[in-house]
Amino acid sequence: MRFNGIGASEGIALGLTAVFRHTEEEAAPSDTAPSTIGGRGNIETEMKRFFQGRDRLVRELETLVSEAAEKIGVEEAGIFEGYIEIVMDDEIEESVRAGIANGMDAVTAINKTISGIAEEFAALEGSYMGERTSDLKDLGRRLSNAVDNREGPALPVLTEPRILAVDELSPVETVRLDMSKVLAIAADRGGKTGHAAILARSLGIPCVTGLGSFSGSAGDGWFCIVDGDAGIVELDPGEELIRRYKRLAAARKVKQDAVKAAAFEPAITKDGITFMVCANLGSPDEAESVCNAGADGVGLFRTEFLYMNSRSLPSEAEQYTVYTKALRMLRGKPLTVRTLDIGGDKDLPALGLTKEDNPFLGCRGIRISLERPDLFRPQIRALFRAAAEGPLHIMFPMVISVTEVRRLKREAATWKAELEAEGAAVGNAPIGIMIETPAAALMARELAAEADFFSIGTNDLTQYTLAVDRTNERIADLYDPFNPAVLRLIQQTCSAAIEAGIPASMCGEFASHELAVPLLAGFGLREFSVAAPRVPLVKAAIRRLDSRSCRALAQQVIPLTCAEEVREVLAKWKT
Ligand code: PEP
Ligand code: MG
Repeated sequence: MRFNGIGASEGIALGLTAVFRHTEEEAAPSDTAPSTIGGRGNIETEMKRFFQGRDRLVRELETLVSEAAEKIGVEEAGIFEGYIEIVMDDEIEESVRAGIANGMDAVTAINKTISGIAEEFAALEGSYMGERTSDLKDLGRRLSNAVDNREGPALPVLTEPRILAVDELSPVETVRLDMSKVLAIAADRGGKTGHAAILARSLGIPCVTGLGSFSGSAGDGWFCIVDGDAGIVELDPGEELIRRYKRLAAARKVKQDAVKAAAFEPAITKDGITFMVCANLGSPDEAESVCNAGADGVGLFRTEFLYMNSRSLPSEAEQYTVYTKALRMLRGKPLTVRTLDIGGDKDLPALGLTKEDNPFLGCRGIRISLERPDLFRPQIRALFRAAAEGPLHIMFPMVISVTEVRRLKREAATWKAELEAEGAAVGNAPIGIMIETPAAALMARELAAEADFFSIGTNDLTQYTLAVDRTNERIADLYDPFNPAVLRLIQQTCSAAIEAGIPASMCGEFASHELAVPLLAGFGLREFSVAAPRVPLVKAAIRRLDSRSCRALAQQVIPLTCAEEVREVLAKWKT
């Protein structure tokens, strides 16, 4: 029986299922008739139970922040920071207190409070909050369990490799899942940007989401095929289908092995042009995997993780240790470190930021750095000191103007001079900027006169050019970097860099899209920075190119009128 869903992580897996479903009761906090507790003493006892359970949960969530940052990245880890804020929210505490005062026990009061908020979230149809309803219910469930000192439903412990058939995976389950025995994930709910999808992609495990009733139709130990490329799951398939998929999986493996074997070779086009293929890094622990993937360096070292794992700010000394450790691991390959890019959907309690109505358009990235020298100064000082130890580049996020870059450089120069006056060893780190706002792309010429290099951040450039929130699944189909509006800004940026003679790289996800690689090469881009597992693939794609025909392709694509036309031309294109 065939189930159609969304191909959330590519690859093919054949095997037996392990089914994991939340029961109805677990899936939504119940709004049952309150159990009466009565009496002042009991009210205090129930509030005490609530506080103790809440403390237990917060401790658990704090551990999850670090686990998630390491396993799936800082952005996802931010979910748990958000959870802590919700759990500690005064309104929730007041509502629970009112429920208890009305005679409910603590768990019933929590369930009532959370289902009330979940209803409000759900009513915000289509908004990001509306879609986080199931996350909130999961949180309510965990708070109730913590108050009762109960373990929640456990994911199956796999003793042999299985295909995980789930109704959905909550963020906590996603982080806690032992993936070593998971062949693939097939989920009833969730899209391409859901937690299960992100985890599966980061681990290279096939995943299909949005399968509707799949997990309810499959029994434990049933044979099935997950086709992450086509977004299909075949439950109990016939012999013919199994043979076909086995052939497909084997062919895929041969291709992957060949790509991996050449990972350490340079990426040189057929007409002899050498490209740099670097990796993006979310924490220093990943530096080794960057080297193992054959990356030519790190094109984007996100530093948000430094601030995620603690409630205090990282000192200059701590940061210096982290940057030099990464440099040592890279053994002479370049390391581009991006200064703190917090704000947007990423909040950090240690910073005590104020809430904003429109955080993606608010105080984010360098806007915070410029406002907060207590954050910016130690980071810049640590970076210049680390630059004395190896090829380190400093990169600023969220730039919109020449004025900002001049100010950033002025401040950086002051702190560098300060270090020199102190007699510290400092390196001459080149200073570059991310081009990730339409303003920066449109002013690329002028910015190129100020910056030592560019790195194009297509994740944000797409969001800001198309006015599409990158985290909103409802409008995910509009979030398309193949839209000619985005492509024209990328092309302008590349041309400005070439004209000014400064290097331009791309560190947004678009850089690892196989269809995009020839087009980007045609725009004149010579440096890519992608997720470590994608490095060998991008190198292989570059080796198939001839730069002259890529230029012709770029000329053909730029006048096109819509993303569909662009994809069609790119899909048909042969180098
Ligand atoms: C980008 O915006 O493309 C980028 C690489 O930065 P981040 O995804 O961290 O915002
Ligand atoms: Mg960005």
